[in-house]
Amino acid sequence: MNPVTDPYAWIESALETIYQADWYRSVKAIQGRPGAVVQLEGKPVINFASNDYLGLAGDERLVQAAIAATQEYGTGSTGSRLISGHRELHRELERAIARLKQTEDALVFSSGYLANLGTINALAGKRDLILADQYNHASLKNGAILSGATILEYRHGDIEIVKRMLEQQRNDYRRCLILTDSVFSMDGDLCPLPQLLDLAEASGCMLLVDEAHATGVLGATGAGCVEHLGCSGRSLIQIGTLSKALGSLGGYVAGSANLIDFLRNRASSWIYTTGLSPADTAAALTAIQIIQQEPQRRTQLWQNVHWLKQALIDELGCVHDTTPIALLPSTSPILCMQVSSPGTVLKLGRSLLEQGIFVSAVRPPTVPTSRLRITVMATHELAHLEQFITALRSSLQNLLP
Ligand SMILES: *Cc1c(COP(=O)(O)O)cnc(C)c1O
Repeated sequence: MNPVTDPYAWIESALETIYQADWYRSVKAIQGRPGAVVQLEGKPVINFASNDYLGLAGDERLVQAAIAATQEYGTGSTGSRLISGHRELHRELERAIARLKQTEDALVFSSGYLANLGTINALAGKRDLILADQYNHASLKNGAILSGATILEYRHGDIEIVKRMLEQQRNDYRRCLILTDSVFSMDGDLCPLPQLLDLAEASGCMLLVDEAHATGVLGATGAGCVEHLGCSGRSLIQIGTLSKALGSLGGYVAGSANLIDFLRNRASSWIYTTGLSPADTAAALTAIQIIQQEPQRRTQLWQNVHWLKQALIDELGCVHDTTPIALLPSTSPILCMQVSSPGTVLKLGRSLLEQGIFVSAVRPPTVPTSRLRITVMATHELAHLEQFITALRSSLQNLLP
């Protein structure tokens, strides 16, 4: 008899392949509270790798709200919302989200990822068509796969292709759903929302927009890209997270009262999971109050974004289409610098880290091309931004002569 081969041996060789391709990833521990400067494995670094755009994740008011809610309601929600895990605090948060988004209602999930999985899967099925931007977040892509609908990906931001796909395919399907990030998380540009909405309305399609990186950041009241592009009040489905600018954990869907009522009955990633913890719920509720009451945080964030972008262009000559390093077009606090290979981006990241600058080196398969992904925060000081430019100049001179 042949010796039985180890059924897990393939994992080691798969890891080796990942390693050889410079795709290997591992975690690094941050100490202390989050902020513009953090301790990374014991060393202070200026943080350009966080989604905490407004600096709220370490804000004392959120911390105190989480402590107070934990003391009053305990640590866990103890059950799914439909069984024993529902608190009035959850409804308060949902009402606050709906007010911010100017929608009839909202529903809070345990994460933005789960909000996308549950919502897309509830809205589309085998007889339906999903049109999706090729650069959408993984949670939108996996939600679409889970639904069993026919999926057509369109070229990033290309409204003409969406139009053609709708003309050619819409009538062969029962329902149609268009999926898009509003701020693209690995590029920093915006979707053509008004045009997509026009197309969706003209062809009887639903439109779901993921505002994960826009909520708290874009729009006069921080409601997101929908507000920024003048689309508040139009029929669409808005997804978002409580874990980025809102500094907490959890996700949400905002839309019509019927949509939300339907999701409470059909979104399995909401029905069959434990309700959000009291601490996360209370922190998010406090964050929503702060983003509405302190617009100066957004003003400061955008000042920092404009300063840094201009310095990258003026002082380092980074523009679109240049080699060896190209600044990707962005209209958000996410600035990406594309480089030639995963190896190069890793070296750049390491060199910056040695100079006390923490940025993420993003590689395939997360993105098609390797890039440094820089996220700007409202709590960065001018000196932080200047240090970044100095460090990047030196890294580029050493690595890309
Ligand atoms: C981060 C992100 C999510 C996931 O949100 P979580 O609350 O972290 O699960 C979903 N969509 C987009 C576009 C994101 O950037």
